[in-house]
Amino acid sequence: MKIDFREFFMKNPLLVLTPEDIGSSAREFISVYGSYMREVAIVGKRASGYATYASRTAPVEQEHTQMFEEWLDLSSKLKVKTVVAMDFYTDRWFAKDPKYQTISAKGQAVPHQICPNREEFWQYGAEIVKEIGSYPVDEILVFGTGFIRDRFCFCERCRQEFAPRVGQEPERLSYEFLVENPDHHQTWHDWRVDKVTQGIAQLQAAAREADDVVERSEPLRLTIEVPIDPQMGLLEGAKNENGLDPSRIFDVTKSVIINLYPWTPVLPRKGTPEYDHLMEALYFVKEFKRRGGTVTLYRWGVSVPEKLDEVWAIARDAEIDRVAVSFRFPEDYAARRESALGDV
Ligand SMILES: [Zn+2]
Repeated sequence: MKIDFREFFMKNPLLVLTPEDIGSSAREFISVYGSYMREVAIVGKRASGYATYASRTAPVEQEHTQMFEEWLDLSSKLKVKTVVAMDFYTDRWFAKDPKYQTISAKGQAVPHQICPNREEFWQYGAEIVKEIGSYPVDEILVFGTGFIRDRFCFCERCRQEFAPRVGQEPERLSYEFLVENPDHHQTWHDWRVDKVTQGIAQLQAAAREADDVVERSEPLRLTIEVPIDPQMGLLEGAKNENGLDPSRIFDVTKSVIINLYPWTPVLPRKGTPEYDHLMEALYFVKEFKRRGGTVTLYRWGVSVPEKLDEVWAIARDAEIDRVAVSFRFPEDYAARRESALGDV
């Protein structure tokens, strides 16, 4: 994949770069493109669970740690805003332990996603935020947040904790039982939003601790991914399927990154009903910003600059001032799409 970096930088997005995008030397990349760089993100922890920096907590891709440090060091010296991306609940390494895997209503364990109801894992994520925050970093993009969909999580722990709230025996709790009673279903949604928000709050507390260790002009910002996809019900889907409610996230980090159509390849055209539905779903942006929050519109798999223009056009219509893109799809895209949309 040959990327025309210069043309991308001219269009002013936040580029989310993997070590592979940057190549072997941060110094070389920055000596060529540094004058175009205003803010750039580098992936610090992948969906595989591996860190690209010298983590003491997560498993490490040793071949990238030196580049990671050099990248942040040179960027901050050039006054380029430094951003690091990390995956949270999507963590294939940690999910090798069946104890932490999230489980569907059909009892199927997902080998790449952690149950969002595990305090130990929140602690793990918090350690990683502290580690990343010990570098000269302005912001962390937190991807892989939330539940996979409404049919999660039916692990032992979630059943035990949730079933009494709807007067059911844990072992008899089923998805059908939840959806046939709208009150039960609402209780399910609210409980899941609470769980995800608590997990994010742990990361936020860790970011504040990281502020005490390193001097930063502004506090370390955590920006939380909220997927908005027509096949998942757009904003309602983010709340009810994923447990991600922007108004609740506002109370914690004040910053969201909307993953635009993560599971849908074609963006809607202006003037179509689908476009209007998307604009309605993004209406919350105005209120979010008015209260002092920041919103970023993100799309993955944008490898040609013309595709970036499409994202910018939607951002402008929705009054979103910042666009982020990555060139590639996640390495486990097919498996993640299947667990989000397939028959699990
Ligand atoms: Zn669970």
